[in-house]
Amino acid sequence: MTVDLHSHSTASDGSDSPTEVVRLATECGLSSLALTDHDTQEGIPAAMSAATSSGLELIPGVELSLDYDRGGMHLVVLWLPPGRGPLQDRLAELRSGRDSRNLLIVERLTSLGLPVTIEEVAEEAGGGSVGRPHIAAVMVARGYVPDLRTAFEVWLGNGRPAYVGRARLGPEEAINLARESGGVPVLSHPHTLGITTAAEMADLLTRLRSAGLVGLEAIYSGYRRHERDGYADLARRFGLLPSGGSDYHGTYKPGLSLGSGYGDLAVPDRVRDDLRSHATIP
Ligand SMILES: [Zn+2]
Ligand SMILES: [Zn+2]
Repeated sequence: MTVDLHSHSTASDGSDSPTEVVRLATECGLSSLALTDHDTQEGIPAAMSAATSSGLELIPGVELSLDYDRGGMHLVVLWLPPGRGPLQDRLAELRSGRDSRNLLIVERLTSLGLPVTIEEVAEEAGGGSVGRPHIAAVMVARGYVPDLRTAFEVWLGNGRPAYVGRARLGPEEAINLARESGGVPVLSHPHTLGITTAAEMADLLTRLRSAGLVGLEAIYSGYRRHERDGYADLARRFGLLPSGGSDYHGTYKPGLSLGSGYGDLAVPDRVRDDLRSHATIP
């Protein structure tokens, strides 16, 4: 049988509810599914109870965006129990940090002569989680800028006067916290790292391996066979285990199915079993 160790639901940026993702996993005959929403485990309880009644093994997980300036570094953490724990608590702190980031941006705009209140911004978000697009919308409504794009280009974007960076975990810090919490850290979709030379990749993997990294995502949607084999070899050379998953996002990634990716993905059970042997909390 096959597994899928990377998927997203409405708890982050997927289109299907956690229950729906579990239903799909059961329907396509997977033996295990990891739900790995971005920076949150909010969907895990619903997914777990849906899985219990269907016979599917639901692996609680999360996917973290890490602080790395070369490119996008994501870390999937598998077998991370929801609730309290070193990584779980840190994620909760980062979420409340997001609120203070919005507050800082609003203060900065006000001091720049463009008064905006956090109440207006919250109203713009309609009760959902507040982000820079909502601040930009208020700026348009107040007539400070003609459109959202200008708000970002002139004021809110990276390097502009009202830019406030997002707090992210560093790679080593995230890996340490994941291990302390009993989870199994896996470096996601290595092609997004922006690394172009073998020497640079070797340096990075050596560094992350000594911090406690366990896996490297090799069997990934959109990778051709030689890329999957290449990343699996790379993993083994650096003492890491190959992992695999579809990175399912529902209708937000058209043509990509849970379990089978673009049609040719199949992650064997033994990939899960090898990784599981590194989880310290059952
Ligand atoms: Zn990712
Ligand atoms: Zn993902």
